[in-house]
Amino acid sequence: MRLQNKTALITGGNSGIGLATAERFIAEGAEIVITGRNQETLDAAVAKLGPKALVVRADVTEDGAVDAAVAAAIKQFGKLDIVFANAGIPGATPVGETDLARFEQIIRVNLTAVFFTVQAASSHLTAGASIILNGSVHQVLGIPGASAYAASKGGISSMTRVLASELAPRGIRVNTVVPGATRTPIWASRAPTPDAFSALEAGFSRAIPLGHMGEAEDIANAVLFLASDEAKQITAAEIVVDGGHIGAPAGAPIYRT
Ligand code: NAP
Repeated sequence: MRLQNKTALITGGNSGIGLATAERFIAEGAEIVITGRNQETLDAAVAKLGPKALVVRADVTEDGAVDAAVAAAIKQFGKLDIVFANAGIPGATPVGETDLARFEQIIRVNLTAVFFTVQAASSHLTAGASIILNGSVHQVLGIPGASAYAASKGGISSMTRVLASELAPRGIRVNTVVPGATRTPIWASRAPTPDAFSALEAGFSRAIPLGHMGEAEDIANAVLFLASDEAKQITAAEIVVDGGHIGAPAGAPIYRT
């Protein structure tokens, strides 16, 4: 058991990568608190995860909401060893078609709230604690129409290094997992039907050297490693889980003759 006697907070633990990580953490012995907004998926997560998961409904953009989730975690477990700041939203912000509210909403959920999640948990973190932020390949790919999302994830990359140096004196590690296109509900608004999703997936698969999208479990496995003591000498690092999309683009099927 790689997380025996560890306690963890996972924001956005009711769906996709967060939920897969919650399952992985529990299987490895952790007790966890998950947050999210959607009551239906929070209820489904409780049923799936069982008694080692505490579920707190919390919008990460609401002042004090994550503090309340952290307080619930401390009341239940007495300490926090792991934070996975994972909650995030997609969204197109093309030049000429984007209003300020939309742009700011993406930055607020994907970047600002991540800082305040870390801040809320900070004073309760033990020496040896591990913080993992959720980034994206968008931080470097320059995908058109994604300025706010890409900037939010580029900000995660920069912020990881700041937090890693700031929290190092307390023995707290801070790292980022960088997912490529991964099969989760995040794509529902862009590809709402099975046919639309198949078309989307076929397009991604041509651009990914390993030839397919990732699964939420692929990301959860990297997060588990960073959370565990196996990564005790790793801080300020990024683990890219993208089938080679940003590291080896020339190996993608679209470039093969
Ligand atoms: P997902 O299934 O849609 O999950 C997103 C999670 O974030 C949900 O649990 C959602 O909870 C939560 N969330 C969103 N806004 C929130 C808010 N204001 N307050 C609290 N919780 C909020 O998508 P996912 O793919 O697992 O995404 C997880 C993370 O991975 C995100 O940061 C995303 O940017 C990143 N990522 C995903 C991919 C991919 O291809 N899937 C690629 C790169 C990076 P509710 O539904 O309850 O709001």
